[in-house]
Amino acid sequence: MAKLILNRLSKTFDLGGRAAVNDVSLTVREGGFLALLGPSGCGKTTVLRMIAGFEQPSDGSILLGERVLADAGEMVPPEHRNMAMVFQSYGLWPHMSVAENVGYPLKVRGISGEKRDRKVREALAAVHLETYADRRPADLSGGQRQRVALARCLVTEPDVVLLDEPLANLDRHLRQEMEETFREFHARSGATMIYVTHDQAEAMALATDVAVMSEGRLLQVATPEEIYARPEGRLVGGLVGQGAILSLPPPFGDRRLFDWPAMQEILAGLAQEPRADILVRPQDVEIAAEGQVATVLSVLFEGERYALRLALPDGQALRAFSRQPVKVGDGLSIVIRAAWRL
Ligand code: ADP
Ligand code: MG
Repeated sequence: MAKLILNRLSKTFDLGGRAAVNDVSLTVREGGFLALLGPSGCGKTTVLRMIAGFEQPSDGSILLGERVLADAGEMVPPEHRNMAMVFQSYGLWPHMSVAENVGYPLKVRGISGEKRDRKVREALAAVHLETYADRRPADLSGGQRQRVALARCLVTEPDVVLLDEPLANLDRHLRQEMEETFREFHARSGATMIYVTHDQAEAMALATDVAVMSEGRLLQVATPEEIYARPEGRLVGGLVGQGAILSLPPPFGDRRLFDWPAMQEILAGLAQEPRADILVRPQDVEIAAEGQVATVLSVLFEGERYALRLALPDGQALRAFSRQPVKVGDGLSIVIRAAWRL
């Protein structure tokens, strides 16, 4: 096993057309778990398919450690890359039992008898399906089918596991349960994993690193915490976590803005130039005792708290949380405790 390196990778499907993947460079460390996050159509699947070997890059190269998988003239076929790909459609054989489905890749490789049975048992145990070996896929829930697909991928002991929106077909409750399964799977297999999703919460919850893509380009690669606290630019800031991007006079030169001056001061500057894009997370907006700084636009009761949308005097909206009930139209005094200049 070794780290996976994408070096200035591009893919253009139509001659002279827009690149589906545009100059993407990225290193996934050995045993790492990277989420590739971005809206539909931004090129995520195309990146995965190039890594797997189903698609030839128009430009750039792919390396696994020292080994070149794809380059200008060179192209290692998918079956020689020791990678496994898992899709949202599972791809199970309906006429085979769970155990037969999981054992199929071993059968293809000529592994049979007790060795195959043992590996299948181990793989099913890893996804908590040991008692389902004799069932057919049709008798399983969506989450269980996805686990069978994972077990089938585990038996081949791949160096790299590529997952293309594997939970997109499942409901929210099952998705959370499956996120746990994916983390366990990653810890157990030791494989380098790349997980494609358009769901930022899923990306943040699962992966050790997140790569954000938009329109074929890579915008930022960092840990989930880093992406959340220090997004680079409006696109990433808008895509990750909750928050509002406000146009405000920049109070400090520093990009991380703690302990802003009193809100009155900021508001006095609302009409001033120059302005900057400032990301404000709802948990950093404190509602002070009294005042008339912001007007409540909407209130959503979330059980533990009220989620508010507030309007500043100049009409810009931001989010905040309140423990106390408030009403639409109420005037509140707020202090922004921390913000991030994009
Ligand atoms: P994502 O997985 O992020 O939704 P894709 O990688 O599937 O995005 O697609 C990126 C872009 O490339 C889209 O504009 C899509 O229409 C285009 N594309 C993908 N595959 C092909 C193909 N085989 N032929 C032509 N265009 C394609
Ligand atoms: Mg896709």
